Amino acid sequence: MSQVDEVKRALDIVQVVGETVDLDTRSRTPKANCPFHAERTPSFVLFPDSQSWRCFGACSTGGDVISFIMKRDDIDFREALQRAAKSAGIELDNRESERRAAASPLIDANEIALGYFWTQLRSAAGNDAQEYLAGRGIDMDAARRRDMGLAPSGMDTLTGHLKTSNISGKAAAGAGLVVQSADGGWRDMFKGRLTIAIRDAEGRVVGFGGRSLDGSEPKYLNTSRTELFDKSRILYGLNWAEKNIRSTRIVVVVEGYMDGIAAHEHGFENVVASMG
Ligand code: ZN
Repeated sequence: MSQVDEVKRALDIVQVVGETVDLDTRSRTPKANCPFHAERTPSFVLFPDSQSWRCFGACSTGGDVISFIMKRDDIDFREALQRAAKSAGIELDNRESERRAAASPLIDANEIALGYFWTQLRSAAGNDAQEYLAGRGIDMDAARRRDMGLAPSGMDTLTGHLKTSNISGKAAAGAGLVVQSADGGWRDMFKGRLTIAIRDAEGRVVGFGGRSLDGSEPKYLNTSRTELFDKSRILYGLNWAEKNIRSTRIVVVVEGYMDGIAAHEHGFENVVASMG
């Protein structure tokens, strides 16, 4: 287990967030008014199962306990990890934390992209995609649970959104979200596709899968190989399945994330999907 995992496992996100945020803990997923933007109806949600948080409102972003501390205290990854380790009583090895600090801007870029894709799916631009999902038995609650979204095909681009969100071109390209075209400009990697965020075993968003909605090829497109994303090393759904696999010692492997999602939505919690 990496040190970052060790720190994360030693902390409970509900407790850490609860230290500074007034949480409504009546539901399985505690809610609060978002501590990072002004609002009257709570759109800040904690997911204890995956030890993650997400603001479904203006911020449209989320992450794990470390990224929460980063935002809360306005500090970088390394410092947040140190604070988290300290409260968990764990001593850090610097090499590991350096490697993780380098990955952090790419994870941030992916989190912002996930929020953007979700907003697009919910909007009028997402009507066809919502219809497609409904045809596969996936309602919007399930789509939100499974980190789905829409990469639009029109003028509104993720590239533009990343710019206004202060994500550097280097991080956006490093995460595989944008590609440089022949004229030197940047364009979105995913266009006109239903997107599915791909998380690693720790729940970090490391890449995306995109299913074509307009018949264009290829039918499925994944993030190309990046520092974070190597499809031969990722089992989709492991972040949801890990606990169950540990207790039952049985793992079921299916092919493709849509089958993995369907299995989890039907309560088969020990299912992971190969990325092909
Ligand atoms: Zn917010």
